[in-house]
Amino acid sequence: MDALSLVPFYWQVAMVFIFGSIIGSFLNVVLYRLHTGKSLAGHSHCLSCGHNLTALELVPLLSYVGLRGRCFSCRSYIPARYFLVELLTGCLFVTVWLVFVGVVPILLAWLVVAALVVVAVYDLRHFIIPDELVLALLVLALAQNGYYLWLTNKSWLVVYNLLGAGLGAAFFFLIWHFSKGKWIGFGDVKLAFPLGLLVGYVGVFSMIALAFWVGAAVSLLLLLGQHLAKRGQLPLRFRRYQLTMKSAVPFAPFLIIGFLLVWLWQIDAIALLTYGG
Ligand SMILES: [Zn+2]
Repeated sequence: MDALSLVPFYWQVAMVFIFGSIIGSFLNVVLYRLHTGKSLAGHSHCLSCGHNLTALELVPLLSYVGLRGRCFSCRSYIPARYFLVELLTGCLFVTVWLVFVGVVPILLAWLVVAALVVVAVYDLRHFIIPDELVLALLVLALAQNGYYLWLTNKSWLVVYNLLGAGLGAAFFFLIWHFSKGKWIGFGDVKLAFPLGLLVGYVGVFSMIALAFWVGAAVSLLLLLGQHLAKRGQLPLRFRRYQLTMKSAVPFAPFLIIGFLLVWLWQIDAIALLTYGG
C-alpha cells in the first residue's frame, strides 16, 4: 500500500491530468522559444502588448477559458493552439499513466509523449522536425530498451528492435529519396528510428501502415473540405488552406498517431485488415 492508493481513483486521474496540462503549458513556452535564440527562463508575456502574465493568467486551460481566449490587457486573441496543447498533453499524460502502469517507468513514458507533442505541433507549424527532439527521443528509446534488457535479459530483443527501427527508417528514406522529399521530409526519416525502437520490431510495420492510413484519410477529408469550400458550402475561415494532391503535408503528426496506436494499445495493422474487413 503506497500513499497514492489511498487517494480515490478519479482524484488520481484529475491530479495526473492537471500535472499534464501544466507540462503542456511549459511545452507551449518550448514551442514558442525553440530555435528563436530565446531562453526558456524569463517572464511569459502577451505577444501583442508585452503585458507580463500574472500567476492567475498562467493557470493552464482555465485562464484561457476565463479570458475567453483574449489577452487581459489588450484584448487581442491568444492562439487556440495554447489551449489545445495543454488539453492534449493533459489527456496524453492520463492515457499513458492508465496504460503503462507498471510496464514502462511512467516518467520515461511521459517524457516521450511530451517530446512528441512538441514534434507534432512544430512540424504542423514549420514543416520541420527539430533534431534535438529526435535525439531526445533516441535517448529515451535506448533507455526503454535498456530497461527491458535489465528486466528480461533478452539481448536478442534489443538487437531485433534496432534492426526493425533501422528497416523502418530505411523504408522512409526510400520514400523520401524517390519522392524527392515531396511526400515526406528527411526529418520523418530520422524520427522513424527512435519511434521504431520504442514500439519494437513487432510494431514497426503496424506503426507505418497506420500512419499512412490515417494520413490518407485526413488528406481525403481535407480535399473534400476544399471541394465543398469551392462550392461555397464551407465557412470562410477554412478557405485559406489551399490544398492539392501534391501539397506538402506535415507527416510527423500521422507517424506519431500511428506510433501511439501501436505503443499504447499494440494495434496490429495486419489483424485489422484480416478481421476488420
Ligand atoms: Zn496583450
